[in-house]
Amino acid sequence: MISKIIAEDQITKVKKAIDGVDKIVIVAHVGPDGDAMGSTLALWHYLMTIEKEPVVIVPTMFANFLAWMPGSECVLIYENDKEKSDELIAAAELIFTLDFNQASRMANMADAVINAAAPKILVDHHLHPDTYAKITISYPEVSSTSELIFRLICRLGDFSMINLACAECIYTGMMTDTGGFTYNSNKQEIYTIISELIKLGVDKDDIYRKVFNNYSADRMRLMGYALYNKMKVYPEHKAALITLSLKELEEFNYQTGDAEGLVNMPLSIEGVIFSVFMREDSDKIKISLRSQGTFPANKVSADLFNGGGHLNAAGGESYTTLQEAVTKFETALSDYKDFLE
Ligand code: 5GP
Ligand code: MN
Repeated sequence: MISKIIAEDQITKVKKAIDGVDKIVIVAHVGPDGDAMGSTLALWHYLMTIEKEPVVIVPTMFANFLAWMPGSECVLIYENDKEKSDELIAAAELIFTLDFNQASRMANMADAVINAAAPKILVDHHLHPDTYAKITISYPEVSSTSELIFRLICRLGDFSMINLACAECIYTGMMTDTGGFTYNSNKQEIYTIISELIKLGVDKDDIYRKVFNNYSADRMRLMGYALYNKMKVYPEHKAALITLSLKELEEFNYQTGDAEGLVNMPLSIEGVIFSVFMREDSDKIKISLRSQGTFPANKVSADLFNGGGHLNAAGGESYTTLQEAVTKFETALSDYKDFLE
């Protein structure tokens, strides 16, 4: 038995909201990751099965290693297809916003979604959700939004409507948001759910290979370069930093998603519990932060880089030069010594 995490009144409200409508738009955050794609596509497959007219729209392109996901070929990319997306968002009767807590995480798409007439249903596992949604299903203790979608569908009484494609999407989100079940994954029920997904035909080993073992040679070389030449370790702060400039990324023919996972690698060094990766984009510096134990990556991100996230996985942005962001980080490191275990 899987416990009833989502409140009963939320289930009733979602049921009512879905029952009366056909046109349903499902959105996720900018730079959609495995959980953003997993949760939106899982919900999309489910809504198709119950004969709705769902469409998934994400602000920007997803990484190549998610392109195998069933249904990904039907996903609209807002920045590439703005006019059509705006029309669909405006015409929607219901909008699901998945895997983010703040409207600003939709970037260029936020205004269109927030101003749309349709009621919104937020399903997410980040702390401090915004208040734009009519129904807010926010459970930060849950591994992933994809797990929440599984729980939601089951509670709607529709476990039998989860087809293999839907199950594969759910599994992908759960797997990627836990680093292949290596963090944030100690809850027993995660494995009960996985067992159900495998019963539905999910080949978990195959999904692992498709998501994690599909590097291009350029991507592998970029990782090697970053670790060998660009990783700085601060033993007294139990921290590490990797930076990659636009020029360096170009040298390795950088494609979206190529630096995914890089930020986690320094955590394999004994004594390092906090790892930061700064990637220079054309218009900003994107910062990823990861930690182990109780060191608050999200606090550092909020304090220094206008960001947030989970305790152990956070992100933020800087509109300075890469060097200025590095200096800000190095200067502030000693402020967090009380959090070192
Ligand atoms: P990533 O490093 O994979 O981009 O992000 C890790 C986590 O940090 C995400 O799941 C999300 O919760 C959070 N995050 C990433 N970027 C931002 C950001 O710019 N602002 C906020 N508030 N959170 C972010
Ligand atoms: Mn997530």
